[in-house]
Amino acid sequence: MKIVVDVRNLSVSYDGKKAFEDISFSIPAKQIVGIIGPNGSGKSTLIKAIMGLLVVDQGIVSIMNQPVSRARKKIAYVPQRNAIDSDFPVLVEDVVMMGRYPHMSWWGFPSAKDRQVTEESLIRVGMIELRKRQIGQLSGGQQQRVFLARALAQEAELLFLDEPFAGIDIASEGMIMKLLKNLRDQGNTLFVVHHDLSKAESYFDSLILLKNKLIVYGKWEDVFKLEYLRMAYDDRVATFTTDNELMVVNG
Ligand code: ADP
Ligand code: MG
Repeated sequence: MKIVVDVRNLSVSYDGKKAFEDISFSIPAKQIVGIIGPNGSGKSTLIKAIMGLLVVDQGIVSIMNQPVSRARKKIAYVPQRNAIDSDFPVLVEDVVMMGRYPHMSWWGFPSAKDRQVTEESLIRVGMIELRKRQIGQLSGGQQQRVFLARALAQEAELLFLDEPFAGIDIASEGMIMKLLKNLRDQGNTLFVVHHDLSKAESYFDSLILLKNKLIVYGKWEDVFKLEYLRMAYDDRVATFTTDNELMVVNG
């Protein structure tokens, strides 16, 4: 089995306070990996650390058997949406073209191929008609589709998305999830930070459950066990119904 992301004994802290400690796992190719856990459990920090965006206390991250510094072109990142991105006065098509920068020559003019890939990416997320709009004029769901198009334009093998469905409409969520599954089926590997536990089974091939350390990594049926969920969310989250089904309430 080809391992795409290998994390060994990774620890990260901010100002001397641990965000998480001693995390290890190996992720095979062609998966959508959900990263779940309560607020502050280290989800965003974990993906930033894997992408090499943070100074870590200790640990080793290998991307396709290379240090992350050698794998940057293979990685696309859709950060958590925020007001700064949304207010930035820039056109939809220019946001998506930014995904082509790693491919451009040093003089930085877009080639015919850059323009073509940008256009195709906009078509794939259903945003081609709004290409001349300013990003700030779009709804949250439309903005998220544009940021996904930027990641598509990068033609990366590994995608990291931080809470891509937060505050967006159901139609956009469905479309984005379908696209992520297409990307997986084409051989890409995706990490998705997500907090809605009820979707975890249908959205993800495997799950990383965090609570400032790794509680468990595995398939949904191995992760959604009362003992693990309680370790992450305490008792407020998980109980059994009369049918002995695990009932999960978000924490
Ligand atoms: P999550 O994404 O699961 O909500 P984070 O990775 O954002 O969790 O945060 C993990 C811990 O690190 C939290 O205690 C949070 O307050 C802290 N933290 C996150 N980012 C910073 C930062 N830039 N500076 C200081 N502390 C931070
Ligand atoms: Mg976060």
